[in-house]
Order: sequence, then C-alpha cells, then structure tokens
Amino acid sequence: MTPLADLPTIELGSPVLGEAEKQALHEVIDDGWLTMGDRVRRFEQAFAELHGVADAIAVHSATSALQLALHAVGVGPGDEVLVPSLTFVATASVVVQAGATPVFVDIESPDLPHLSVEDARARLTPRTTAVVVMPYAGYAVDGATWRRFADDHGLALVEDAAHAAGLPGHVAGVADASAFSFFSNKNMTTAEGGMLVVADPIARERARLLRAHAMTASTLDRDRGQRVGYDVVDRGYNFRMDELRAALGLVQLPRLLCWNARRRMLSGRYRSLLAEVLPRCRVPFQPEHPTAAHLLPVLLPVGTDRTAVATEMRAARVQTSVHYPPVHRFTYYRERFGDVELARTEEFHDRELTLPLHPRLGPDDVGRVVRTLADALATTGAPDTATTTVPAPITERTAG
Ligand SMILES: *Cc1c(COP(=O)(O)O)cnc(C)c1O
Repeated sequence: MTPLADLPTIELGSPVLGEAEKQALHEVIDDGWLTMGDRVRRFEQAFAELHGVADAIAVHSATSALQLALHAVGVGPGDEVLVPSLTFVATASVVVQAGATPVFVDIESPDLPHLSVEDARARLTPRTTAVVVMPYAGYAVDGATWRRFADDHGLALVEDAAHAAGLPGHVAGVADASAFSFFSNKNMTTAEGGMLVVADPIARERARLLRAHAMTASTLDRDRGQRVGYDVVDRGYNFRMDELRAALGLVQLPRLLCWNARRRMLSGRYRSLLAEVLPRCRVPFQPEHPTAAHLLPVLLPVGTDRTAVATEMRAARVQTSVHYPPVHRFTYYRERFGDVELARTEEFHDRELTLPLHPRLGPDDVGRVVRTLADALATTGAPDTATTTVPAPITERTAG
C-alpha cells in the first residue's frame, strides 16, 4: 500500500489551465489593448452562441452580473425578492445592495434542494417583485414551472447560474436574466469574471450601458474615432471585463461542454460507488437530472459528526467542503431580517458534505475518495453506516 504521506492531495476543485491560456495572455500583452476590446465582445458572442441565446454581457463577476440583472428587471428599494438560503451569500447580498429585502425560501426536499414553489408561494406579499432561482450544484431548475410562477404573480425571474455554465437548453432559456460566474473554482474560469444574459433586448442594452457607468460611448469607440464625447443616462457601475480575462474565456469556453461531460461521468461513478459501498449516503437529484455537474454534494447519515469526517478525510489528503452554510443564519442576515425558519434547508446543510469533482480527477481518484469517506465514517463512529464491511480498495476494482 502507498504510504499516506506519498499520496497526492485530491483537490475539491481545480481549474484546467495550460499553454493555451499562457499564450492567450501573451497575445493580449503584445497587442497592448487591455480592456473592453474585441476579445470581450467575441467572448460575449461565443458564450451566447454556446448557450443558444441572442447575446450576452461580460462583467467582472457573477455578483456584478446579478446586480445588473436586478437593476435591469427593475428591483429597487421597498421591494421583496424571493431567494434561496442554500446558496452562496452573493445571491442575497445583491438584493440588499439594490435596497430591497431578501425573503428566504426553503428547499423542496433533500433529494431536490432547489427552491420550493410551495414555500415561495407562501412567502409572497404585495411587495414581492422578483424571484431568484439557483441551479444548485449545476442541476437545472424547472424552468417551465418557475416561468409560470413568475408570470402568475407578476414577478421578474432571475437565475443565479453561477454553477451552471455550459448547460445549453437548461440555463438562460426562460429567465428574464441569468448570471454566470467564471471565478476560479467554477466549471470554466477567467480567474474572476462573469456573464449576464438578459432576455429582453431593451433591458439587455440597458444592462450593457450600466456595466460601464451608463456612458453612451466606450473608450474603444472614442479611441477609434467612432464617437466624440458621451452622455451618461443612468446611475451606472464599473463592472467591465478586461481583455486578459476575455482571452482566457475564449480559450476555456470551447472546452466547457467536454469538461462538463467529464464531470457528469465522474458524478455517475460517484453515484454508483456510493450506492454500492455507502448506501446510507445519498447524492441529491436523480441521476438523469440535466446538470453541469459543478459540485458533488453528499448527504451523510443523520447524526454523523461531519467535522470529524472532514478532518479524517483531510488527514488522508482528500479535500472536502460544505455547500452551503445557509445565508439566513449568518449574523448580518439574522440581525437585519430576523430569524427565519427553513427546516429543510437547515437539515440539508447539517448533513451535507461536498466531495472533490473537477475534470482532472480520474476514476481511480473517485474510488479513493469514496474509500476515504467510508474509512472516515467508520473511524468517527457514524451511526449505522457500515452496511457492508469496508470493501477492498475500490481503486483496483474501478481501474480502467
Ligand atoms: C460563485 C458564486 C457566486 C459569485 O460568483 P462571483 O463570480 O465570484 O461573483 C454567486 N452565486 C453562486 C451560487 C456562486 O456559486
């Protein structure tokens, strides 16, 4: 057996970066035009084409894309916006930034940790103007249902699609606005970066203006002598993307669908190994649910000491994480918006452990992760997990 100290760390997530990215960055330096040039525009068009939408707006993060989205659909002071709590804090913080109140909605169930339509309906008030859905772990939300819900109640439908780049046909199709992230741990990266898709062409061009101070002409336009002077038509932001990031995006984007397919293949392997070895650990969603497979969340048996399990796994050089500490339980949100009870979200969070998933992971790595989890559950005395004896090294049985 390989001594523990010699085993490489299995990272939770890991960007795929190489010569093509280095080359692309060199070319930008050589060209000398550093921001909001042709590469940004080409990246927007290529992203839109891949996702089957008319156009897109590159920005410097998903958070800024969400801010623009809320601005573009008209969310403002006094409004209430329905949001998940099982998400990254940015989904809610942008609502506060807009002067509106985030209203946290529970998840459907442990097997379907998306926003619950029923709970969303129960939390509607005359002040509700929008709902933000989030394809958790990359698993598509039910677009038709949410479109109907939004239309029935006169709401804007915004999608925090940070987990779901490269899921054409399932993201950015029905929402009024969808925000994507290219942060370094997402399915493709530009280090920092984001993309906004807006359905309505007028709202879209409004959002495009807002990205750069709501100025009617860009520096590039003026540099090329296409415009002299400019006007400012709204309270804008500086959410511009630069050419270095766009150059990375143009290299990463053509590989995104392939990486996502590999993520799905690895997720499938996790599902079958876990079902075989640790049947009391559940992976949310049905195996056939359309997904960009951003994360591999697992629900540990009730009563498991998750911190102890994660510590054991770290000692065995397997990184894990938790997605997510519920936003409504953070100090700021409790103090500002009061205690909210979201029983299903809290139970999900208490049991959830995220296992490594990224395109550079091999099938043998999946075996090692599952075996490490099995060992950690056994040593930490997790209740009634060892339904089978701890199996022979999975790596041997899954090699190939
Ligand atoms: C990563 C993430 C964000 C924020 O993305 P940035 O590009 O870092 O701003 C927002 N929402 C969710 C669900 C995320 O996972």
